[in-house]
Amino acid sequence: MIDTTDLTRNQDLVFKALVDAAVPLSAYTILDRLRDSGLRAPLQVYRALNTLCEKGLVHRLESLNAFVACARPDCHRHETVAFAICDQCNQVSEFSDTEVEARLDAWVRGREFRAERTTIEIRGTCKGCAG
Ligand SMILES: [Zn+2]
Ligand SMILES: [Zn+2]
Repeated sequence: MIDTTDLTRNQDLVFKALVDAAVPLSAYTILDRLRDSGLRAPLQVYRALNTLCEKGLVHRLESLNAFVACARPDCHRHETVAFAICDQCNQVSEFSDTEVEARLDAWVRGREFRAERTTIEIRGTCKGCAG
């Protein structure tokens, strides 16, 4: 299980909003949902999201400009996390693959490229929506 005991109140609220949501949420949607809990400023949400992302509890989906709670607390030993995003129902499947990670790592090393971060996002239609 993830240890959330060291989160601040705002971080905890943002994290729970993402865990409760079945789909990725933008920072503004999170702010809307937490207004009643006392969050007023976008900066409060962005600060909380930054920390949650650093801790690996939350991931940012670049192509959606939205955030999801980590689906697999055990995934954080991996540098590279991949997402399959359904454009019909917005469901996100998070996964990591050591072979893909090794290949990307080899490519980057081979070109002496300094990687800051890697984003793998597959957009399409999930099994449920395709059926
Ligand atoms: Zn994760
Ligand atoms: Zn779907």
